[in-house]
Amino acid sequence: MSEIYFYKKEVDWSLLHLGLNIPVDLQGILYDKSSFVLQKGDKKQVNLILGNNTYHATLTNIGFDQKKYPTHKDLVQIRWQPQSEIAKTLRTIFRCSFAYLFEQKALLENKKRQLSVPLANREYLVLYLTELDNVLNLECITADEVSETLLFTKEVNELELEQLLDMKDAPSFLQREKTVKIRKLDRKISDRLKHVYKFRCQICGKYIGEKYNADVIHSHHIDYFSTSLNNNADNILICCPNHHGIIHAVNPKFDRKSKRFLYPNGYAEELILNKHL
Ligand SMILES: [Zn+2]
Ligand SMILES: [Zn+2]
Repeated sequence: MSEIYFYKKEVDWSLLHLGLNIPVDLQGILYDKSSFVLQKGDKKQVNLILGNNTYHATLTNIGFDQKKYPTHKDLVQIRWQPQSEIAKTLRTIFRCSFAYLFEQKALLENKKRQLSVPLANREYLVLYLTELDNVLNLECITADEVSETLLFTKEVNELELEQLLDMKDAPSFLQREKTVKIRKLDRKISDRLKHVYKFRCQICGKYIGEKYNADVIHSHHIDYFSTSLNNNADNILICCPNHHGIIHAVNPKFDRKSKRFLYPNGYAEELILNKHL
C-alpha cells in the first residue's frame, strides 16, 4: 500500500498513554487525502498499522465551546486509552522515553507540567497516511536507532551527509538497518518542503533547474543534522546548490527572528521565500 508522510511526533508522556494532537497546519493535508471532514465533536474509528499488527484508535475533532474559546482553532486528536494495546505496545517500544519520563514525573510537584526527553535520547513516532481513509501506518524511531545514526554521520562532513541523505540509493555505510528509517524520514520531510517551494531557493528565489527540466534543489539543516539529527521542517531550509555551498563554506549564522543569514564578513541576507520558518 502506498503511503504519504504525514507527521513526526516526539515521544512524550501523553503519546504513551492517551494519543496525540494533530497540528493545525496539518489538518488540511489530512482532509485533502481523505473523503471526510470532522466537524466539532465528530469522531471516527481508525486503524493504526505498526509492524504486522493493527491497533484501534479514535480520530476526533474535540468540540471547543466557541463562546468560551473564540480564538481556538479546531483541535484534532488521535486518541487511545492508557491500557489499550497500542499504548502498551508504544510503552514497550519506546521504553527509553517511558523510563525517563516515569522517573522525572515522580520528581515533579506539578504532575501536569510537560516533560521533554533530552535531545540525544529523544524518540519519535512517524505517521503516514495511506490510500484508505481509516488506516494510518506508524513507524517508531527509537533512541537506539538515533544513536546508531549519529555514530555513522560522523564519517562524512555535513554537506556530504545532506547530499547522501537526499540520494535514493545511499552508500553502504548508511544502509545499516538502524539508519534506514531515519534516512527515509529525512528525505520525505525534505521532499515535501521542496514541493512547497516548487524547487525554488529560499535565499535567491531561483529555480535553477527550470530551463533544464531538472528538479535540482537542496535541503539544508539549519542546526547541523550530523549533531542534532533534527529533521523537523522548522530546521530545514530549501536552497540552490550554490547557496548551499556558500553556507557550508563560510558558516553564516541563521537568525530565526529576522529570517536572515548573517555572514562572517558582515553581509546579511534575508530569505526571499519563506512559508514555513
Ligand atoms: Zn540560491
Ligand atoms: Zn546544509
